[in-house]
Amino acid sequence: MNKIIKKALQLHELTKSEIIELLKNDLLKNELFLAADKTRKKYVGDEIHLRGLIEFSNICRQNCFYCGIRYENKNIERYRLTPDEIVQQADIAAQEGYRTIVLQSAEDLYFTSEVLADVIKKIKKNDVAVTLSIGERSYEEYKILKEAGADRFLLRIETTDKDLYKKLHPNMSFENRITCIKNLKDLGYETGTGCLVGLPGQTIESLADDILFFKEVNADMIGLGPLIPHKDTPLKDVNPNGFWLALKVMAITRLLMPDINIPATTAMETIHPNGRFIALQCGANVVMPNVTDEYHKNKYEIYPGKKSVDYTKLEEKFKQIGRTISKNKGFR
Ligand code: SAM
Repeated sequence: MNKIIKKALQLHELTKSEIIELLKNDLLKNELFLAADKTRKKYVGDEIHLRGLIEFSNICRQNCFYCGIRYENKNIERYRLTPDEIVQQADIAAQEGYRTIVLQSAEDLYFTSEVLADVIKKIKKNDVAVTLSIGERSYEEYKILKEAGADRFLLRIETTDKDLYKKLHPNMSFENRITCIKNLKDLGYETGTGCLVGLPGQTIESLADDILFFKEVNADMIGLGPLIPHKDTPLKDVNPNGFWLALKVMAITRLLMPDINIPATTAMETIHPNGRFIALQCGANVVMPNVTDEYHKNKYEIYPGKKSVDYTKLEEKFKQIGRTISKNKGFR
């Protein structure tokens, strides 16, 4: 066995140069994926946690260069579910058996913390965990949402390369993004972060820094995926070739953070046929089916061709790779 992979398997620690070696050396790819799968099995078992995702608004105040729902994109139809519609859709998902509801949106300040707190309280009448993914807010707002019953929060750092972050996120602050992640952790949220892989100008070294950042902030979940260019964004011409590299970043993350939750992301499935199942066999243990109503689902177009989870024989397909669907809330 390669000695870096052996070290990661035993100690769950690697230096930056060792991470870089794993990311660069394609000959180690299969051994890396096997080691990540073994670690996943040992620490978080064979259960897959399903999280029901509701995308409740695509109205955004931000202008991220890669994102199809960025403020400046005038070519999409904007929508916002009403608070009652969000609760209704969450109730249906809970009745269908989901034990976690993920409320995700663009950065839409119509949803004040008070409005969202009310939504969360109503959803929590079901026996479910609630995850939020609504972007940057103040410490006080995160506190109100936590007190209303939110359990988890996803806020990707996107990239730890500060200069690249600045170029891709006009009028946003890298320092504030980090403050937000730390505030969420301080407030007791199970905190998720992650990165985009395949950004123009992104280096292998900075991806190694991303992984070390995940560990440094002791993230409870890591969601990462390849960049998929959207035609109405400044990154429309980028070559979408981040799948294998994203998978490697994910596998190394599993090796270094063995007990966290890692979703097999929709971006992986969208960019590669069977990408979700491949990810589940390279370290991932979470799947996030989109439970937003059919009318609004396709309007949350952060990138084109978003691949829904195919429910046909899902349980059977999981079984084929030795996995079962979890019946619990799946905390870290
Ligand atoms: N507004 C919230 C936030 O900023 O955290 C949540 C919604 S945001 C659209 C969710 C994630 O989508 C981002 O963290 C980003 O990594 C991902 N994303 C956006 N555009 C993408 C693209 N073109 N390809 C792949 N992922 C993308």
